[in-house]
Amino acid sequence: MDRIIGIDLGTTNSCVAVVEAGVPKVIPNKGGYKTTPSIVAISESGRRLVGQMAKRQAITNAQHTVYAAKRLIGRKWGSAPVMHCLETCPYEIVQGPHDDARIMLRGKDYSLPEISSIILQEMKLVAEQYLEEEPTKAVVTVPAYFNDSQRQATKDAGRIAGLDIVRIINEPTAAALAYGFGKNIDATVAVYDLGGGTFDISILEIRGGVFDVLSTAGDTFLGGEDFDARIIEHLAYEFAREHRVDLRKDEMSLQRLKDAAERAKIELSTMKEAKVGLPFIYTKESGEALHLQTSITRDRFEELVADLVHRSIKICKATIQEAGLDVEDIDDVILVGGMTRMPKIQAAVQEFFGKEPSKAVHPDEAVALGAAIQGSALSESRQDVLLLDVTPHSLGIMVHGGGFERLIEANTTIPTAHSHTFTTVRDNQTAVKIIVFQGENDMAAENELLGEFVMKGLRAAPAGVVEVDVEFNISADGIVSVRAVDLETGKEQSITVTATSGLTEEEIEGMIHENQDYLMALKEDEEIEIERNRLSKMMREVEKHLQRLSSQEDESSETADACDSARVAVNEARNALSSRDFELVMASVSALERAKTVLAGIQ
Ligand code: AMP
Repeated sequence: MDRIIGIDLGTTNSCVAVVEAGVPKVIPNKGGYKTTPSIVAISESGRRLVGQMAKRQAITNAQHTVYAAKRLIGRKWGSAPVMHCLETCPYEIVQGPHDDARIMLRGKDYSLPEISSIILQEMKLVAEQYLEEEPTKAVVTVPAYFNDSQRQATKDAGRIAGLDIVRIINEPTAAALAYGFGKNIDATVAVYDLGGGTFDISILEIRGGVFDVLSTAGDTFLGGEDFDARIIEHLAYEFAREHRVDLRKDEMSLQRLKDAAERAKIELSTMKEAKVGLPFIYTKESGEALHLQTSITRDRFEELVADLVHRSIKICKATIQEAGLDVEDIDDVILVGGMTRMPKIQAAVQEFFGKEPSKAVHPDEAVALGAAIQGSALSESRQDVLLLDVTPHSLGIMVHGGGFERLIEANTTIPTAHSHTFTTVRDNQTAVKIIVFQGENDMAAENELLGEFVMKGLRAAPAGVVEVDVEFNISADGIVSVRAVDLETGKEQSITVTATSGLTEEEIEGMIHENQDYLMALKEDEEIEIERNRLSKMMREVEKHLQRLSSQEDESSETADACDSARVAVNEARNALSSRDFELVMASVSALERAKTVLAGIQ
C-alpha cells in the first residue's frame, strides 16, 4: 500500500510528517522550516501564493490574503464566527450559494474547502520533494471539537487538492500518539492544545499501544488570534485616545497592527516588556503622518487575556469530570500548540493540574507526527497502535415540538451506530422527514443543523402503522451518515449527512478540475520560463559569435550568409521571448542552436 503522510492543517501554521523505518519525522519545507504559514493569497497577476510567500506580501495585499481560514471552514453564513470575521478580517467575506461563507479574492469567490485545499496541496508538495514521489494519501488532523460539517469540509479540501484523506483524526489524540508511540506507557494523560485558532482538551488512557480517548471538549473560537486581538484592541484604543483615529478601520494599518500584536505576544513569552514601533502607521487627510510608538508589559498583557486563560481551564475541569475522573487521576499533562509557550498558560495549567506539564513532545510538531504514526499504522495494518477516539458532540434528531432527542451521546467511542424506529404520525402519511443535529442543547434548533432527509414512498396507512428504521453512523473520522429502511418493504435510502452549507458533488468535481487546470497552466508557465531562459542564453552566445566574426573582417560569402541567417534567428528569438507560445520558443531555441554550431565552426 502507498505511503500515507500525516498533515497537521493548522489555523496559523501547517506541518507534514512521515514515518520512515519506523521513525516519525517532520519534513521541512523548501526554506528549511518545519512549519508553513497557513496563509493563501492571490497576487495581482492571478497567481496563488501559499505559506511564507503569502505571508511576506500580506501587508501590501491585505485584501487578497487569507489567514485563519480554518476558523470559517464548515461554518454557515450568519453564524457567530463568520460575523466576527466579517468585522475583523481585511479580506472580503461573501455569502455563498448554500448559505455558506465564501471569500472574494480578485473578483472570484473561493469556498473555504478550496482555500484549505491550496494549503494541503502545498504540504503535499513539501512531502513530494522529500519523498521524491507524489503522495496521494494522508491522515489529516482537525480540532477535536470540530463538528460533522467542519470535518466533511476538510475532507472535501483534500479531494480538491488531489489528496485522499484516508482518516481524519483529532489534534490532541494525534499529539498523544506522538507522546506515547514506541514507549511502553501506562498512564492517564490530558492533552491541552491551544493553537492559533482553537482550543482542545482531551483525556486519554494509554495502555501499551492502545490510545483510548475518555472525553474531549474544546472551543473552536479560542486561540492565539484572540490573544492577538486583545493586544490589537489595546493598541488601537491607546492610539485612538491620542489621535482620534481608529486604526482598525484601515486595512493596511490593521494588518500591520496584527503583525505587531503577534510579535509582541511572542516576545512577552520571554521578555517582561515588548516594544511596539509602527512608524507611518496612518496618514491623515491633511497629509500628516502618524506613528505608533509604545510598549506593553507582560503583566498588562496577562490582565488583558485573563478571561481567555480562565475559559480554557474551565473547559479542562468539565472534561475531566466527563471522563469520570478527578484531577489527581491525571498522570501527565501534554502541552500542544504554539500558544502553550506563553508562561501564563503554563502556570495556569500547572496550577490547575497540580503538576508540571510534560516537555516530552514538541508543541508545533507533535500533531503532524501523530498523524504520520496513524498513517503508517493504517498503511501497514499494524497492530501495535490502536486508536479509540470519541465523538465530541451528541448526535440527535428534532422531535415534535422542536425538542432534541439524543441518539448518540457526546464522548461515545467511534466508530459507532445507533438505530431508531420512526412511525408515521398522521393517517396516510407517505413521507417521513428526519432532521439531524449535533450539539448539547435540549432544543434542536439551538444545535448545529447537519442536514435533513426525506424517506418517501411509504404505504398509505393509519398513523403509527408504518415503521421506518433509521441507522445513524459516526465513522472513525467523526463523519455522520444515515441509512433508513422501510421495515415493510425493505426499501433502503442512504445519505451522508451534509449540512446545507456543504459543497455539492458537482461543485467539488468542478473545483477539482479547476485546480487541475490551474496546476497544468502553472506547470506550462514554469516550463516555458525554463525554455525562455535557455533562449536568452543562446541569443547571447550567438551574438558573441557575430561580434567575433565582424571584428575578423572575414569577407567570404559563406561567412556573410551564415551571419545573415544567424541575425534572422536572433531577431525571431527576440519575438519569441515575449511570446507565451511554447512551440515558437522551442523552434527558436533549435534555430539558434543550429546558427551557433555553424558560427562556431568558422574560425
Ligand atoms: P499553532 O496553531 O499551534 O501553530 O499555534 C500558533 C499560535 O501560537 C499563534 O497564535 C502564535 O502567535 C502562537 N505562538 C507561537 N509561538 C509563541 C510564543 N513563543 N509565545 C506565545 N505564543 C506563541
